[in-house]
Amino acid sequence: MKYQPVIGLEVHIQLKTRTKMFTRAPAAYGFPPNTLADPVVLALPGALPVLNKTALDQVIRAGLMLGCEIAPECRWDRKNYFYPDSPKNYQLTQQAMPICLGGEVEIELPGPARNIQGEHKKIPIDHIHLEEDVGKLNHHATDSLVDFNRAGTPLMELVTKPALHSPDEAHAFLTSLRALMQQAAVSDCDMEKGQMRCDVNVSIRPTGTQTLGTKVEMKNLNSIAYVRDAIAHEIRRQTALLENGGKVTQETRDYDGTTGASQSLRGKEDAHDYRYFPDPDLLPVRVDAEWKQRIAASLPERPFDRQRRLQETYNIPYTLTSVLIWDKQVADYYDCCLRQAAADAPKLAQPLANWIVNDLLRALSEPTEISNLKSEIPSAPSDPSVPSVSNPSDLPLQTRITPENLVALVRLIADGQLTNASAKTVFAQMAATGDAPDALATRLNLKTAPADATELETWCRAAIDGNPKAAAEFRAGKDSAINALKGPVMKSARGKIPPAQVDQALRKLLAGS
Ligand code: ADP
Ligand code: MG
Repeated sequence: MKYQPVIGLEVHIQLKTRTKMFTRAPAAYGFPPNTLADPVVLALPGALPVLNKTALDQVIRAGLMLGCEIAPECRWDRKNYFYPDSPKNYQLTQQAMPICLGGEVEIELPGPARNIQGEHKKIPIDHIHLEEDVGKLNHHATDSLVDFNRAGTPLMELVTKPALHSPDEAHAFLTSLRALMQQAAVSDCDMEKGQMRCDVNVSIRPTGTQTLGTKVEMKNLNSIAYVRDAIAHEIRRQTALLENGGKVTQETRDYDGTTGASQSLRGKEDAHDYRYFPDPDLLPVRVDAEWKQRIAASLPERPFDRQRRLQETYNIPYTLTSVLIWDKQVADYYDCCLRQAAADAPKLAQPLANWIVNDLLRALSEPTEISNLKSEIPSAPSDPSVPSVSNPSDLPLQTRITPENLVALVRLIADGQLTNASAKTVFAQMAATGDAPDALATRLNLKTAPADATELETWCRAAIDGNPKAAAEFRAGKDSAINALKGPVMKSARGKIPPAQVDQALRKLLAGS
């Protein structure tokens, strides 16, 4: 490649708090316009800000989750500008002394094929600062209306170093960052609700050189896929410019995800002069070691750390861990199963992972289970005086199958008391009723019982006679060929003989005759 792309991201993430950053008005989504505004939000004369400590807790959580250094002291600056989305005519932010410095996000680039582990990289973060979100302008045919519900919502802005080099890396970065923030319960990062928004900065330079090229910025991309597309588009545009002897001009461009085209929004020369200065109404904040330690002690394991632990401790294949780690509820459920399995965890880890990935997740995505789930997650109340505290990511997995019962099911299979096929039936009943597998298997008359030796021999002979090819292959040394003979025997027995007994009987017959 003649040019190397250089990309830096600025990611805004709304922090999960009950109230806004400098006032008690609820921080929530989906309410009628301007019902979450109070004198502080509206900047009425005499209204003064009071800092919400939870917003600081949350940004410290974010910083520690990403390995940032937490500044011992940070303060608030006014970013002055005139636009209807802010009645104060300034935004409170941290320009000079941001709260988090450094840190990194581990990413995984797509592997050479689906289901194959890709390359891991660590993308360095420049800093994270805290600021308040602004109101939202809704544009109509002949006018624009402003909604201050979002104004004053705690918002963190994470700025990366210019250290990403492809659209795929940017995609992987946002995927990883979103999971980290969701799992630390910092934010739900729902991009459709504007809880995570991304500005991208793109430049290119001749491959092998170090000096940064002129960057172009694209603002407020609201899906991870758009970010990837916008970067790819911009790299192509800049490459074509340079190839034709042109120059890249520093500007902000607008990328349209539906048409895949971009247009210049404004040049750098009319960039605002924000006249930043420290806010006189707010004191600087000191974060001491104890505060940091308290938060550090409550952080969850990072997804890729969890994946490495599962791979190293239990030898769980990548195809399973890559599904298990992204959703904290699913990953916690699996870890809970492993704790229940106790001494048998090494033996049961893989079958448990298989049941969760193949059966439990499917059951959870079926309509019946989803309707159960919905009734238990509080939805946005219509009364704006009641703040929304729906925290789906903090709830345990919504299934009737407890980890204890899933482990019990897998034990029954491992002990030969239940065949895999019967276990599927029991599993479906467990999902529907929440009953324990042992009782269900007995009630459904599915438990295996040692077969009568003569009867078993007849079934085995019939299986061998019915598939002479498999029998010959087995005798020629292909051990796995025996599996083809087990099915018919199991079928004759209606799935009720311990699989080990079938295996034994078949081997004996195949060796003898
Ligand atoms: P500005 O002052 O224009 O806001 P910053 O230096 O604050 O620029 O950087 C904003 C973002 O742009 C950061 O994520 C940074 O990594 C990225 N960035 C800076 N320079 C470049 C460049 N030449 N090419 C690509 N990204 C860049
Ligand atoms: Mg900047």
